[in-house]
Amino acid sequence: MNSSIRIAIVGGGVAGASLLHALVKFSHLDVHIFESASEFKEAGMAFGLARNAQAALQLIGPSAAQCLERAGAVPMRGVRLMLARGEGAGSIADETNETDQGKRLTSIVHRAAFLKELLAGIPQNQMHASKRLEKVDQNGSLTLHFTDGTTHECDILVGADGIHSAVRKLILGENDVAAVPRNSGGWFLMTLQPFDKAQEILGKELVDIENAREYGWIGQNAFLMHNILSDGELVQFAIASNDSENKSESLDRWQRIVSVDEIKQLFQDYPSPLNKAVDELLCNQPEHKALYLWEHPKAPTYVSGPMCITGDAAHSTTPWQGSGGGMSIEDSLILSTLFGRAKTPTEALTALKVYDRVRRPRTQQIVESSRVTGDMIMGRSEEIGLDPKKFGSFMSRWDFIIDIDMEKHRDEALQMMEAGLKEQSTM
Ligand SMILES: Cc1cc2nc3c(=O)[nH]c(=O)nc-3n(C[C@H](O)[C@H](O)[C@H](O)COP(=O)(O)OP(=O)(O)OC[C@H]3O[C@@H](n4cnc5c(N)ncnc54)[C@H](O)[C@@H]3O)c2cc1C
Repeated sequence: MNSSIRIAIVGGGVAGASLLHALVKFSHLDVHIFESASEFKEAGMAFGLARNAQAALQLIGPSAAQCLERAGAVPMRGVRLMLARGEGAGSIADETNETDQGKRLTSIVHRAAFLKELLAGIPQNQMHASKRLEKVDQNGSLTLHFTDGTTHECDILVGADGIHSAVRKLILGENDVAAVPRNSGGWFLMTLQPFDKAQEILGKELVDIENAREYGWIGQNAFLMHNILSDGELVQFAIASNDSENKSESLDRWQRIVSVDEIKQLFQDYPSPLNKAVDELLCNQPEHKALYLWEHPKAPTYVSGPMCITGDAAHSTTPWQGSGGGMSIEDSLILSTLFGRAKTPTEALTALKVYDRVRRPRTQQIVESSRVTGDMIMGRSEEIGLDPKKFGSFMSRWDFIIDIDMEKHRDEALQMMEAGLKEQSTM
């Protein structure tokens, strides 16, 4: 192989897989991916990829964009935010429609199916499962050490190793407060249901494949959402709340037991058929395990020398603006464009510096915005509470995320890279 830059991606989630998918087309890059699990497989249920992420997939290339379709993604006609409590109970707080701008808003896709498509066709000798990164030696090039005792030499290390990222700790240092995530106090519980069953309980108006919409229902420290995926075969039904009042207890915990009594208390006053759906879908066993929602404090950098972080390793976020996966795909577009332009390992270092400059402000703004949005959609915001009038332009909170001109974002990164390379050549 006549490769001039050796790149190792650590972590085979959506960030690592989309980056690998984007990089394999460059013949001058020798790319390998390492995943700690015994196979490349997504564990989560479904996520929504909004039009910014879809634009990034298009720009990575037609094969990346087709992965969504092949994974059975269901494009939503719109997103509708409903008030479930207070004087406006049962009414629309705010909504966005595909027809507002004639552009797709968001598509809901099963994560495992999407990951499988992103990795289909990648040569097996570039994919390495059961490889947990343990440490990295830097001596000219990088030597990655895995827990099974094996090693791998590379010029560039991309940490796509998720919220508990080992590479983040290497870049920031173990003692940096931003090296580890923090618990937001919010928790989330999801179930996937057959389409027919969900439609029978929620009714055709709310679950309709011909008029597929994502619904979010705002309660009193409670939120409920549902959407359609897998070509209309499944419905994702999720509830959330926040127990930040008990923060000292829950600070270090990743999971929480939620009893049926607690669920009933949070959602009993929801309008029918939502309370009926909660009862039938979630109250048939005494308790559930919910996930606490964590986020990263702002990192001062995503890069150190030949190492960088991407996806949740760089900017884990609460899910309230459904953007963690989308940001990972945007990262992959920018990183792959810059690595594609680099011709030597030294030029790849310039690519990393530009990646940090371009991606850090946007992604950290999204993490921040998501946290504030979470308080609003759980009826916890003192400013707007459950007042229908104050939710008037709520959906505009998404504008800066979904309306980004991805082509311009990519081209600006490329221009910075050209300027950086020019500067390098005159030194
Ligand atoms: C409840 C919830 C709902 C969400 N909804 C949405 C949504 O609607 N839209 C959206 O865009 N995003 C959403 N997200 C966010 C999205 O799920 C994440 O941002 C995204 O999956 C992150 O992908 P990743 O590849 O960066 O990390 P991960 O998926 O965590 O992948 C990291 C990988 O690295 C591996 N790994 C870890 N450590 C090592 C190591 N030392 N060596 C080797 N491998 C290692 C792990 O096994 C894992 O496979 C949601 C998140 C949550 C919690």
